[in-house]
Amino acid sequence: MNNFIFYSPTEFVFGRDTETQTGALVQKYGARKVMIVYGGGSVVRSGLLARVEDSLRKAGIPYCMLGGVQPNPIDTKVYEGIDLCRKENVDMMLAVGGGSVIDTAKAIAAGVPYDGDFWDFYIGKSIVAKALKVAVVLTIPAAGSEGSGNTVITKVDGLQKLSLRAPGVLRPVFAVMNPELTYTLPPFQTACGIADMMAHIMERYFTNTKEVEIGDRLCEGTLLAIIKEAATVMKEPENYGARANLMWCGTIAHNGTCGVGCEEDWASHFLEHEISAIYNVTHGAGLSVIFPAWMTWMTEHNVDKIAQYAVRVWGVEESDDKKKVALEGIARLKAFFKSIGLPVTFKELGIENPDIDRLADSLHRNKGEFVGNYVKLTKKDSKEIYRLAL
Ligand code: NAP
Ligand code: FE
Repeated sequence: MNNFIFYSPTEFVFGRDTETQTGALVQKYGARKVMIVYGGGSVVRSGLLARVEDSLRKAGIPYCMLGGVQPNPIDTKVYEGIDLCRKENVDMMLAVGGGSVIDTAKAIAAGVPYDGDFWDFYIGKSIVAKALKVAVVLTIPAAGSEGSGNTVITKVDGLQKLSLRAPGVLRPVFAVMNPELTYTLPPFQTACGIADMMAHIMERYFTNTKEVEIGDRLCEGTLLAIIKEAATVMKEPENYGARANLMWCGTIAHNGTCGVGCEEDWASHFLEHEISAIYNVTHGAGLSVIFPAWMTWMTEHNVDKIAQYAVRVWGVEESDDKKKVALEGIARLKAFFKSIGLPVTFKELGIENPDIDRLADSLHRNKGEFVGNYVKLTKKDSKEIYRLAL
């Protein structure tokens, strides 16, 4: 196991009706003025936004609003938010929504106290030294952004989708998580969230670091819980227990609990970011296409952990033929994705003829000569993986 620091100071307030505590929590964390950030309107239609506003009013917290954040959030919304925050003297971002809304709130939080262009942080030109506080009322278990220090934004000019990691300053101070808020999710969004949280675990599980028994078992156990609860929520969208378990899985998948002490991979995420940047598909659906392709490529290049995963997560019988074991595990993963309505090929994703040269060129321009760690992928390797997803 590698040396590590585990510091995950977010206060999670979990359960029914917890959104009514938002105002009190904002007060507890010392905010004087809040900016509520939300998406395309689901929180207006569900009445959640009104309840959050009511809670802020009761706590005597003034606020302003920034709505209209789109899935695969873009830089222009971030600039709009930075301007508004400065004008309104905001000192805390309150994201009410999913990963796109939270990531936008984080980008604004970093950009407000910074003299230059916030995009500098995403291209590695500058490091986030300070930021406004970020808080969350979560409506979809998926990105895990409520417990992570990461944010992913797309620059419209050039369609560059890049992630920034700044856990010291951008991890939310609190996250309100009421599983009932997820009942209104369209089945496809529920499924995409499931694929994303599974991917966050697998990016950590597929490691060459040895002596990570606790990490492995946390990953396997959480994946098994997700697979079980996924089947239930797809049939019974208002099953509180299943929604609650999934919601917490989404958080621990990405707040550092799983995979502690190991070298993480992240190639599949980076391969996917190019797809959602260029073709604007849902991140989780891009992952359900790319992750099995990445794993299939790995059966030829570093099969051990893929075979272990097949046995422990998908119940494949052990054998000396590790490639065969691994391929059967991948087949079961694909069958699972299909069973919850997710695509497993570019074609099923609605992209008949992906421009593989463009995807791979952009990936390696953004991420350098090598991508990932389980096997360090060259541009040739990346193209082969994209081709396996056709
Ligand atoms: P999202 O993009 O925030 O939301 C997806 C869709 O679900 C939106 O159309 C939204 O509608 C709808 N929705 C959300 N909650 C709903 C509810 N309770 N009822 C009905 N509809 C609801 O989804 P996400 O998967 O959480 O975030 C995806 C983004 O996060 C991607 O850009 C991805 O790359 C990024 N990501 C970030 C991290 C990280 O650590 N920061 C990790 C992985 C992925 P409205 O807009 O109308 O609300
Ligand atoms: Fe993700």
